[in-house]
Amino acid sequence: MPLPIEGFSRIGEENAFAVLARATELASQGRDIINLGIGQPDFSTPPHIVEAAIKALKDGHHGYTPANGILPLREAVARRTLQTTGVEISPDNVMIMPGGKVTMFAAILMFGQPGTEILYPDPGFPIYRSMIEFTGAKPIPIPIREENGFAFSAEETLSLVNEKTRLVIINSPANPTGGVTPRSEVEKFAAGMEEHPGVAILSDEIYDVMTYDGEEHVSLLTFPNLRDRLILLNGWSKTWAMTGWRMGWSIWPDALYDNVRKLAVNAWSCVNAPAQHAGIAAIDGPQDAVAEMMAAFDARRKLTVELANKLPGVSCITPKGAFYAFPNIKETGWQAKPLASKLLEDCGVAVIGGPDFGILGEGYIRLSYANSSENIERAINRISEFLSRDA
Ligand code: PLP
Repeated sequence: MPLPIEGFSRIGEENAFAVLARATELASQGRDIINLGIGQPDFSTPPHIVEAAIKALKDGHHGYTPANGILPLREAVARRTLQTTGVEISPDNVMIMPGGKVTMFAAILMFGQPGTEILYPDPGFPIYRSMIEFTGAKPIPIPIREENGFAFSAEETLSLVNEKTRLVIINSPANPTGGVTPRSEVEKFAAGMEEHPGVAILSDEIYDVMTYDGEEHVSLLTFPNLRDRLILLNGWSKTWAMTGWRMGWSIWPDALYDNVRKLAVNAWSCVNAPAQHAGIAAIDGPQDAVAEMMAAFDARRKLTVELANKLPGVSCITPKGAFYAFPNIKETGWQAKPLASKLLEDCGVAVIGGPDFGILGEGYIRLSYANSSENIERAINRISEFLSRDA
């Protein structure tokens, strides 16, 4: 007899991890696999950050910390927020989380109930929809369109808000598209949300400093009218190449803060103590490594777009942020997921099919250019050979 775990029949996952597992398995069988699938920097965490964690361990930081994180780290986040957004926040609104993802988990859990609706970007980070479904709320996709440069449309987003809406999830710069929403659109959204004072917003800004060609990132934190219902998600994973450290932060309005603190007490107690000390070093230390990483990503971005546009049946707009390109494959005649699977199994190239990011992802694949230029070139050459053979 099946055990009664009904809610978990609704939980999804991130296929990027399954692709990574399969790619690793194929590599262990001796196959030459090039991974353009996983969304993590291929750089190591800068040495001064690693040293700070080692020092913290040697200095005896082995115990629990406050559930919301150590004060010097929350103060560092407040300083960084002032630097990047010009907005002064209190460390008392900063919550240190075990990764960026946990903020979406907490926010969606807080607002998701059967009978309510939560808006989320499609294509978008797959965990948004998975968690919304898990809570029993109805997931309402916000279409993210190629013709808008993969920016979200304020008008379209606002048109989906109704009396059942509890939370609107926004993500710019975006995964999986690399889209960055321009100031005019963000302003229109912020102004339109005035009419919906009871609706909370989760703004996922984990790629905030990862933009190119001088493209501006407009933080939703800069709109005072949204502050009492805005949850801002950010973290260390992408900017400082710290995905495995599980370090994130979020900024919560006063009215919600104690709820997330209590959730931490119930679930994870606190974030790894030495990692929190490393987090201070990341924010306060030299940022040269971040700049070097961004310069490398920029060069690879240009290479990826140039090569992808030469593929038969493929067109690829230039992403303005993050480290993903989202080429359109509709003219190849392939559906995205079978193509992704074929590319991995037959050509040893891991990519993610667009439908893994939502219904509107069909017709696209995600290429993560967090890999060396040489590997990007080899991978896209293999894709080219495959598509030419197939044509
Ligand atoms: N938000 C977006 C848009 C992401 O792309 C990711 C990771 O890929 C996360 C959040 C989660 O980051 P973390 O690894 O810190 O949990």
